[in-house]
Amino acid sequence: MAYLTLQGINKIYPNGFHAVHDFNLEIEQGEFIVFVGPSGCGKSTTLRMIAGLENISNGEFLIDGKRANEMGPREREVAMVFQSYALYPHMSVYDNMAFGLSLQGVDDDVIEERVMATAKILGLTDYLDRKPRALSGGQRQRVAVGRAIIRKVGIFLMDEPLSNLDAKQRVTMRSEITDIHRKVGATTIYVTHDQTEAMTMADRIVVMKDGYIQQVGTPYELYFKPVNMFVAGFIGEPPMNFVSGVVTNDTMQVGGATLALDKVLSAETVAKYQGKKLVLGFRPEAIELGAEEDSYVLHAEVELTELLGDNTNVYVDMEGVKSILKVDPHDTPKMDTRIAFSIPYKNVYFFDGETEAVIEK
Ligand code: ATP
Repeated sequence: MAYLTLQGINKIYPNGFHAVHDFNLEIEQGEFIVFVGPSGCGKSTTLRMIAGLENISNGEFLIDGKRANEMGPREREVAMVFQSYALYPHMSVYDNMAFGLSLQGVDDDVIEERVMATAKILGLTDYLDRKPRALSGGQRQRVAVGRAIIRKVGIFLMDEPLSNLDAKQRVTMRSEITDIHRKVGATTIYVTHDQTEAMTMADRIVVMKDGYIQQVGTPYELYFKPVNMFVAGFIGEPPMNFVSGVVTNDTMQVGGATLALDKVLSAETVAKYQGKKLVLGFRPEAIELGAEEDSYVLHAEVELTELLGDNTNVYVDMEGVKSILKVDPHDTPKMDTRIAFSIPYKNVYFFDGETEAVIEK
């Protein structure tokens, strides 16, 4: 197992493109870290720098406290699972897993022992003689994971390993990978653009945008204490609703309602934002239908309802401001009706209209 230190890491590609800016992170031994963010935000580039597949333009990268910038991929003792898991098609499952070890000159009986143990962890014991083409997508993915964990390295890197699977297989493999991590205990960095994968698998999540880290935290911290609108909108499904307005007389107009800001923000903060733009944020699931105490009460037209089984998404319009509410399916309002809903003060977020940073309550 290993701990990793990334200090002021930058990546500037030969064409001059600055893909990763001042990346700072300490990864503890055995931690499961997820890099998440939209396409092109620099997740894979950072992972490839850790793997030694891409050189680090500047900054310090340490493994177990030792500078590793110039170490080759082998010396770093990392194993990587890619999106295209590229198994050897002509080899059996057994040989696919054994191949790397035989190249290293490991004895056949040791190889057999490790293949059998790995196959057991991954539920592949019955498939060892099969060729990849005779496996399902999920089974192939498990072989790819097996090829990586069989090497017993301290660092395990995965780049969108589930993106070739269907939705159901992804859910199953998600819990299988966390289970394997628990058993193997290797320090793991997992790249995905899927916030659900990040939330369900990570010890800590690193949210990236345009090559910059936005926030590092546990799934709980990112969901309840996002530092800015980007993180607030990225984590959570459907995303957080945002409504912007200008502060006048300690209030803000939202869809025809006048919200008293001092119910949520301190008097100093309200004073500071007089005449300035503020953004109200609330999660679709953090509301209650009807007019409740200790809440901002808003009125809206119901445009569309989507029954999803465990809840209903209600698309509403508040004088041109669109939002999504998540309600109990038994309380689904009728379309084209007018409803009242409440956002408890404790569930309200405010963001600076210019910087998009969250405002402390
Ligand atoms: P995705 O989810 O689409 O894989 P990502 O977050 O992993 O995205 P990266 O692959 O790290 O993103 O790419 C980050 C940025 O660097 C992108 O804008 C990409 O176009 C750019 N980039 C990647 N490789 C190179 C390269 N070899 N030369 C120049 N720019 C590159």
